[in-house]
Amino acid sequence: MKTLIVLSIIVAVGMLLLKIFSPHIKGFIGELKVNLRLRLLGKKFVIIPNVMLENPNGSTSQIDHLVISEYGIFVIETKNYAGWIMGSDKADDWQQIIFKEKHYFRNPIKQNLSHIYALKNVLSDYHNVKYYPIVVFVSNATLKRLNVSQPVIYANRLRATIKQNCINKCLSLEDVQIIKQRLQSSDVSRIVSRRQHIQNIQDNIQEKQFKINNLICPWCNGDLKLRSGVNGMFYGCSNYPKCKFTVSC
Ligand SMILES: [Zn+2]
Repeated sequence: MKTLIVLSIIVAVGMLLLKIFSPHIKGFIGELKVNLRLRLLGKKFVIIPNVMLENPNGSTSQIDHLVISEYGIFVIETKNYAGWIMGSDKADDWQQIIFKEKHYFRNPIKQNLSHIYALKNVLSDYHNVKYYPIVVFVSNATLKRLNVSQPVIYANRLRATIKQNCINKCLSLEDVQIIKQRLQSSDVSRIVSRRQHIQNIQDNIQEKQFKINNLICPWCNGDLKLRSGVNGMFYGCSNYPKCKFTVSC
């Protein structure tokens, strides 16, 4: 009887721990999957996982994976969502439908654009470097009705997607190493704790909304201008094409 009680307690505690840590474990496994696939690209491709860059305005950009190569820099945003995924280039949020429930998450294409903006600040002297944003879904997601002009892919397409863009060289192998060192020394992830990053996001969301309300670009402080596109009216940055910030009306 005593053994049974002890066993039940162990099972209950185990299940509780699994429930608490399962999103972290899933996230960790997802990152690992991407990492392993990237390692297979070969030695000429330099992989930097988890870089946090500080923008001139004090905000931070957390980049899941960077692949630096002679062909340019691949900027990879990893998503661990299951269920149906729907979204477009311009939408502020994307939709996840799982167990008949709708959830919203930040448009990963826009996240990647802001990461590229932060990278360009750090690498401002490399004018010719090409940037390739890629969004990778690592869980059992079904990518439905995506209206996107950039690669949004399953993990098994990652290497092929990178290889497709390895046509024209824009960096020397020496540049690749210099850029790697510069990005590693610009990485503030150890200094800025994750908690502070979350606080920054909350502050940034408020500041971003304040700026948008006053028609100021939250990325570069340029003016926001009303523009018309195929999907209707939107606000775009007056510093386009240097700054690609957009927000729907
Ligand atoms: Zn701007």
